[in-house]
Amino acid sequence: MPHVTYPGFPRIGRRRELKRALEGHWKGNIGTEELLDIARELRSRHWALARDAGADSVTVNDFSLYDHVLDAAVMVDAIPERYRPLYEVDPLAGYFAMARGRQDDHIDLPALEMTKWFDTNYHYIVPEVSAGQTFAARPDKVVREYREAVAAGYVARPVLLGPITFLCLAKAVDGSDPLARLDALLPAWGGVLDALADAGAEWVQVDEPVLALDLDDATREAFRLAYAWIATRSRVRVLVATYFGSLDGNLELAMSLPIAGLHVDLARAPEQLDAVLDALPAGRVLSAGVLDGRNIWLSDPSAILPRVRKLRDRLGDGRLWLSTSCSLLHVPLDAGDEMRLPGNLATWLSFARQKIAELRRYADAAQGDEDAREALARQRVLVAGRQAAPGVVRDEVRKRVRQLTAQFGRRRSAYPFRAAVQRERFGLPDLPTTTIGSFPQTATLRVARAAHRAGKLDDEAYTAVVRDEVRRAVAFQEEAGIDVLVHGEPERNDMVEYFGEQLDGYAFTSFGWVQSYGSRCVKPPIVYGDVARPAPMTVAWSAFAQSLTKKPMKGMLTGPVTMLQWSFVRDDLPRADVCRQIALALRDEVRDLERAGIGIVQIDEPALREGLPLRRAEWNGYLAWAVEAFRITAGGVSDATQVHTHMCYSEFNDIIEAVAAMDADVISIETSRSRMALLDAFARFRYPNGIGPGVYDIHSPRVPAEGEMASLLARALQVLRPDQLWVNPDCGLKTRDWPEVAAALTAMVAVAKAARQRL
Ligand code: GLN
Ligand code: ZN
Repeated sequence: MPHVTYPGFPRIGRRRELKRALEGHWKGNIGTEELLDIARELRSRHWALARDAGADSVTVNDFSLYDHVLDAAVMVDAIPERYRPLYEVDPLAGYFAMARGRQDDHIDLPALEMTKWFDTNYHYIVPEVSAGQTFAARPDKVVREYREAVAAGYVARPVLLGPITFLCLAKAVDGSDPLARLDALLPAWGGVLDALADAGAEWVQVDEPVLALDLDDATREAFRLAYAWIATRSRVRVLVATYFGSLDGNLELAMSLPIAGLHVDLARAPEQLDAVLDALPAGRVLSAGVLDGRNIWLSDPSAILPRVRKLRDRLGDGRLWLSTSCSLLHVPLDAGDEMRLPGNLATWLSFARQKIAELRRYADAAQGDEDAREALARQRVLVAGRQAAPGVVRDEVRKRVRQLTAQFGRRRSAYPFRAAVQRERFGLPDLPTTTIGSFPQTATLRVARAAHRAGKLDDEAYTAVVRDEVRRAVAFQEEAGIDVLVHGEPERNDMVEYFGEQLDGYAFTSFGWVQSYGSRCVKPPIVYGDVARPAPMTVAWSAFAQSLTKKPMKGMLTGPVTMLQWSFVRDDLPRADVCRQIALALRDEVRDLERAGIGIVQIDEPALREGLPLRRAEWNGYLAWAVEAFRITAGGVSDATQVHTHMCYSEFNDIIEAVAAMDADVISIETSRSRMALLDAFARFRYPNGIGPGVYDIHSPRVPAEGEMASLLARALQVLRPDQLWVNPDCGLKTRDWPEVAAALTAMVAVAKAARQRL
């Protein structure tokens, strides 16, 4: 029978126990021993859960107190010097200092940088290396966890982040080439593998997800060197794991490595199955990632079972492992906990636990087990039944998407004409000031929201609290002299959830938490059906806010790409089509805002960039439908209505054409942390429309000095036309406190006024 396993498991716990323990520890309420006990208990529960669900072997070292990439850095002693003194005295404190910074009477250490793990919503800590970097083996964590699993009776496979992926993800602080440190790194690696062999490990899983990216020759050569070295050196059997896409041009490279096993992603890239089978060297184990580790849907046996059969026919049982495409880190733990989902939705879901159970069923069925075959037959009926279930396919929504034409994405006139009409209408000064949308979410508001959710505060009382917050935000902005106002978004807890809850086709789980970074988790909504808007979503709030002021009030929406990107999306419709459905629903909202007298509407797309496919060749396809979706959302209004968008990042060089093609009248972007360097992308491209490069870094509680904002603005004025420049913060202000916000925005307005004088 094929061996059933998985590349990694969620860490956070069924009820986010790890989050609570970590945050308690950081506050000083949970001691080191207690934290480590909770972590050990979670590992043992998770192994038991995987085994009981049907796994033949479990993974070890996929658990982390913060992040597995940081663990990989520590494992080879790549601990930057500034953290080392603390690390030597108190390793756990040193570890958390790297992860999240540390500030007390004696120490002021900022955290290491954090960035997105490939195209997922998980963030890892970026390891630092330098030209003189030395490495040493610190195998204690992985060996300890391996021994724990073995002592508890599991067949256990340690998981390590591969040396090439590690170096590719690392940042060289001195600008040197991280890959040049490979020779120095390998002996440390050898030390870890030796320690694992001594502890009795047979297989070690070495994750090399960069094999699913476009690689240059130097990286490919590094792969050959590294794995040749490991092969001569190690006493363990190495399984190299690739995931998040197809091996594509790296297929031959992967096959040529002297390793005992290879894991491939057959969920994102089922089309590589034949090529992989044809190229797999004799005797090598194939770990086939047949089920999607990134999504939450029960699989369709009519697609998967034939693949499993083919794999088994070609490889026999001894060389075949059945697995999920990637670590289950990216899905919640157990769909069996969901009691409050509409209709049959809960029965269509497969979280970590269900995925392993599915693998077991496929393995048993392929072997001829009658019960498993029957279970899969039932599963097939269940999955097929989705199409006919209420709300999944809605003819009127499908018809609207089918009838989309290029006209929908077109504003009536080109930007220069619109700009003139809007200038006339709003009479704004040069360098107009505005904000990105949210204002501080106060304690009063949070308490009221919790009470409202718990049924302890009725709708009317809650609405009154929210209205007071809007009044306060509007009054403040008037007094501060801001030109384009916002209502402050106090009615929203989350920019996707707020809209998802009002749209048909979206559902929300009770416990579907996924780790975003450290102790931070998100609960992505599920798009299970055709998306439609039964009623206006924001019009009442925006109209109320507008009634409080004569200045223009900006309506505030989350864009279609972000609504898609931060959700679990149905697997029975192309993402582009789901995105078009959302765009049409939002288009109606934009038009309703316009009809209600809101002259400026902002459509936020902070997630546009993170939707980029991993392979360059697929970028244009994605950008085409993403830009189209934005344009459909914005395209229904008159020339006099000003459309804004917002993106909170600073890399635009490679997507500037697409951003320009969105044709928003105004875009606000993050710049203050990157010191306006990114503006070069806009300047070089001669980006024609309005731009608000953030002059105030809202990610820190510091109130920026007027001088800092003035110099950022002066820099912007060197590369942009004064008539296209807006003045605003980097992003929304909801995580900040009122006093700092008031001080910073007052200073920002003063800076804009002074700059106008000099124009
Ligand atoms: N309008 C949102 C806010 O101000 C934008 C948030 C974001 O860009 N992530 O909170
Ligand atoms: Zn933002």
